[in-house]
Amino acid sequence: MGYDIKSVINNVVVNNPGQPEFHQAVKEVLESIAPVMDRHPEFAKAKILERITEPDRVITFRVPWVDDKGEVQVNRGMRVQFNNAIGPYKGGLRFHPTVYLSIIKFLGFEQIFKNALTTLPMGGAKGGSNFDPKGKSDNEVMRFCQSFMRELFRHIGPDTDVPAGDIGVGGREIGFLQGYYKKLANNNGAVLTGKALEWGGSLIRPEATGYGATYFAQEMLMTRGEDIKGKICTVSGSGNVAQYTVEKVNLLGGKVVTLSDSNGTIYDKDGISEEKLAWVMELKNVRRGRIKEYADKFKAEYREGKRPWSVKCDCAFPSATQNEVEEKDAKELLKNGCYVVSEGANMPSTPEAVDLFLEKKILYGPGKAANAGGVATSGLEMSQNSMRLSWSREEVDSRLHEIMKNIHKACIEAAQEYGQPGNYVMGANIAGFTKVAKAMLDHGIV
Ligand code: GLU
Repeated sequence: MGYDIKSVINNVVVNNPGQPEFHQAVKEVLESIAPVMDRHPEFAKAKILERITEPDRVITFRVPWVDDKGEVQVNRGMRVQFNNAIGPYKGGLRFHPTVYLSIIKFLGFEQIFKNALTTLPMGGAKGGSNFDPKGKSDNEVMRFCQSFMRELFRHIGPDTDVPAGDIGVGGREIGFLQGYYKKLANNNGAVLTGKALEWGGSLIRPEATGYGATYFAQEMLMTRGEDIKGKICTVSGSGNVAQYTVEKVNLLGGKVVTLSDSNGTIYDKDGISEEKLAWVMELKNVRRGRIKEYADKFKAEYREGKRPWSVKCDCAFPSATQNEVEEKDAKELLKNGCYVVSEGANMPSTPEAVDLFLEKKILYGPGKAANAGGVATSGLEMSQNSMRLSWSREEVDSRLHEIMKNIHKACIEAAQEYGQPGNYVMGANIAGFTKVAKAMLDHGIV
């Protein structure tokens, strides 16, 4: 008894030097599925763990483009097609200066299990570039996207791999990418999700990740006979996920008091109302300004260089980026009475922070479960594209809500089955992994 998970993890670390984020994501998943391996010797025999930690394919490519001054710029593009056991590769593209292979591999690895949890048939992938859209003109972003797609187009397809957005990739970038794909491939296939409504997008896709993370928090609260109504919430970030988390929390009667960006945090004791949120959306999505302006505009407090985690709250929604909740932040949150953490971002809590949340038995919803609403709604966009029709807002929202409830239920049941009731980390990893592992077994050694 006792499958040797440690040596599998050790091999991943040795064989992938210089990729700490990828190691972190692998450790987090593998450590919690040890009891599944003990119960399923057939997984060990088929070397499922050794295979699942090795991507099917890693594509990296040069992305040359010309800036507005006529100077040549060179970035690196990549796509990691991690696992397609349960469906075509699916996952976003991240454009951010911090992107390198380790980040894309951790995200692609997480995506395998997240997508499995959505109940829809999607494999796991991720891509992106170290390109920084901040401060670039629309024309520069277009030329970059076109150069990026010039290589990517040959690797993707509606039944092969369907990218979408992530940090730095929103509606504008998806538009440029789809436009150039269509030109190169002479094919109008739905190779991206997050499209605009007029050319194949789905209602509720922009809202989906934030709405989903809020539905997940609501489901967790309901296990204690409570709900979001009247709860003080902190949200980090101020992009797509953060914005629609604020919107949904408001709709459910909660109060959001923070938003942030890489420069600092705004703390608005009165709450970020619908009107203030509309202003934030204009600031961030149209003017592409900094969140500090909010403090000046609405006379709120601005905490330069700080994250929101020292603000007193009941529920926290980390919605910015990986490792944004460190051990000291987790301590601060717990000290101030926070007892719900629903992750809109991918892997925002460090392993030390996660350990604290689990030890204190708060309602902790890890990203791969709590933020799965985004990719789930991408899956719904793919379904609508295949049927060549579009569903109403109500239809998509109710499907999203149902999916989040089902993900929550799957986590609860898996955690219960393996003797760790209330542990959403184990629940999410076990439920996601078991589905993919069974599919891999069915497909033989490929
Ligand atoms: N980037 C999002 C995620 O982390 C969405 C991916 C998608 O819609 O394919 O899940």
